[in-house]
Amino acid sequence: MSAKLIDGKKVAEITMKLISDDVENWVKAGNRRPFLKVVQVGTDPASTSYIKAKTRSCKRVGIDTDTTHLPDTVSARELKSIIRSFNEDENIDGILVQLPLPSHLSSHDVIESIDHRKDVDGFHPMNVGRLTVDQPTFKSCTPAGIFELFRHYSIPVKSKHAVVVGASNIVGSPMAIMLSRENAEGKATTTICHKYTKDLTRHTIAADILIVAAGQPSLIKAEMVKEGVVVIDVGINRVADESSDKGYKLVGDCDFEGLKNKASWITPVPGGVGPMTVAMLMKNTLLAAKKSIYPDD
Ligand code: NDP
Repeated sequence: MSAKLIDGKKVAEITMKLISDDVENWVKAGNRRPFLKVVQVGTDPASTSYIKAKTRSCKRVGIDTDTTHLPDTVSARELKSIIRSFNEDENIDGILVQLPLPSHLSSHDVIESIDHRKDVDGFHPMNVGRLTVDQPTFKSCTPAGIFELFRHYSIPVKSKHAVVVGASNIVGSPMAIMLSRENAEGKATTTICHKYTKDLTRHTIAADILIVAAGQPSLIKAEMVKEGVVVIDVGINRVADESSDKGYKLVGDCDFEGLKNKASWITPVPGGVGPMTVAMLMKNTLLAAKKSIYPDD
């Protein structure tokens, strides 16, 4: 392997320790402990395991949390009315509605019903809008975590050609915005690819930094990149694996074995971007508690 490993687990540990110290100082200064409210609609097993990971992380950094479980038959009106009651609750700092939602619910509509000052996922149009104009905001956790990795490993971004594969509202699009705009650490020349991109390789092969968030196992292979590329694999895909107790294993969107001989830096899956995403959620919840992004008038 010639690529250096970007160890998201290790960087997340360091980040979580800093956040935990910060939380304790905040509480010692006489403030209420930050509180994260999680809402789960239905019983999707992947969502349940993501919520478990988030709850565990809250405990580790000293953030209080609980999860409101709603049946997958809940109406949009009921769900939004529950969210509005959380918006008004002064003891709740951050609200997270675990996605995806059942198909009868519009995630856009539900996200917009969250008070943007409590939108610690950074998905509300107000926060996304502020991101695009370089204003303080709750940054979407996955791109924010990737930037922490760049900082930790001193991987330069400015003036590089960054290619983002995947254009979702929660990962690909905010990632591309941050790469192109973020004042001090962005300013990359940024290409964004999606399902309708013709000849994906023409773009990926030109990348100095390649960020892949498509949800397609082994989409990116060694022949699609140039020597020395920095590879950030966001994908988390369950593929059948009879040798595992669970019957599946987690893989990214990139062919790690092939790419590790060509890249200069690479993230593993698991243990790359995932732990950083959760750490950034903790950071955003603390920012919400401190009202750092939206101070009271
Ligand atoms: P979405 O399904 O919402 O978006 C996927 C994006 O990839 C879409 O823009 C889609 O294009 C594009 N895409 C799909 N197939 C291709 C292809 N063959 N070529 C080019 N583009 C393609 O997924 P998410 O953004 O929510 O998640 C992406 C992956 O990242 C998933 O595996 C998810 O589990 C993982 N994830 C990991 C996180 C972490 O912390 N590590 C956090 C969040 C997600 P189009 O827009 O045209 O449909």
